[in-house]
Amino acid sequence: MEKILVLLHTEDGQLPPSALETLGLARELGGGFDLAVLGAGAAAAAQHASGGAAKCFAVEGEPFAVSRYATDAAACEALIRASGAPLILAPDTMRFHRALPGVAERLGAAIDTHVVSVSPGGEVQRWYYRQRIEAALRRGQRPWILLVEPGSQTPAALQAGSAPELLNVSCNTRTTVEGFSTPIAGEQTIRPDAPLLFVAGAGWTKKQKDGAVHVDEAAELILDFVRRTQCSLGSSKSLVDLSGEGEAVLPFLTHLHQVGQTGSSPRHRKGLATCCHGEEPHVVGWRFIQERRAVNLDPNCGWVRGKADVVYVADAFEVMRELLKLL
Ligand SMILES: Cc1cc2nc3c(=O)[nH]c(=O)nc-3n(C[C@H](O)[C@H](O)[C@H](O)COP(=O)(O)OP(=O)(O)OC[C@H]3O[C@@H](n4cnc5c(N)ncnc54)[C@H](O)[C@@H]3O)c2cc1C
Repeated sequence: MEKILVLLHTEDGQLPPSALETLGLARELGGGFDLAVLGAGAAAAAQHASGGAAKCFAVEGEPFAVSRYATDAAACEALIRASGAPLILAPDTMRFHRALPGVAERLGAAIDTHVVSVSPGGEVQRWYYRQRIEAALRRGQRPWILLVEPGSQTPAALQAGSAPELLNVSCNTRTTVEGFSTPIAGEQTIRPDAPLLFVAGAGWTKKQKDGAVHVDEAAELILDFVRRTQCSLGSSKSLVDLSGEGEAVLPFLTHLHQVGQTGSSPRHRKGLATCCHGEEPHVVGWRFIQERRAVNLDPNCGWVRGKADVVYVADAFEVMRELLKLL
């Protein structure tokens, strides 16, 4: 196995789960590795994780505390040059996804994103086209930067080691980071680390057995459940599309909640679909959900046809009311 550089960044002064996963992959591969950490509190974070690393480097300080292309690219370039390792493993976070392609250009390196496995023999598997195609590939070009898909590896346990060598990186930038604005209005309901995914379908906004729609009650039941269980909230495409069609909508759902072929494929241990038909373009987004249950009035819905482990043929309004009482 060629020598590896594990290149990580901190989040709030700590190594996030995606960083520990990348470190876990490097340790599993068994060859020698260097460790490099960038960001606020990088030196301390590096020392906590550098057990087993041949060399350890860090870049920290105010300009590198925030995610910004110019400073991140300068720091990563310096860290990669300091190590000299031909293979660089880094987590495929938004921060690195943005900075590392430019670094590869500066170094004359190759780069691949969405990497899900690396074999000791140097074969790499990666996803294309939103996880629908998986390719196995090798490259002769070095250095080779591999951005490892978060959620695809077993995280390493922290193992303290020697203190890192602090690199002094200077970089002029015209960009000042003032903060973040997020497209999600209101409260955060997408929680990738939650054990449970709760999916709302368009049925919540359709006429019910009394001939009326009950969108306000639907919104209350769903949000109450999400808040109490701290689960992650997902949606079908039909439901999030309704707002564009002038129909009654659940105001807290955006296209970021959409699960499915043209939405996301989140990873949760359990999933509960409610008022959602279970059509293939939706269920394809459930491929990483290990245990699936659904509530639908229709005993012929898609979930019944082999797409869920358990289907409750029932009125989701009634089920949720009872469930909330139990909670
Ligand atoms: C190219 C392509 C890509 C697509 N990508 C996606 C995608 O990424 N994600 C996605 O979701 N869809 C996607 N779709 C659309 C998908 O095919 C379905 O149209 C969509 O998932 C249907 O949404 P739904 O199940 O919420 O709504 P509906 O099909 O309207 O189903 C509503 C369900 O609610 C049930 N219901 C109503 N009231 C109650 C109640 N009180 N209790 C219990 N059940 C109730 C009904 O029985 C019904 O089954 C795609 C389609 C295409 C063609």
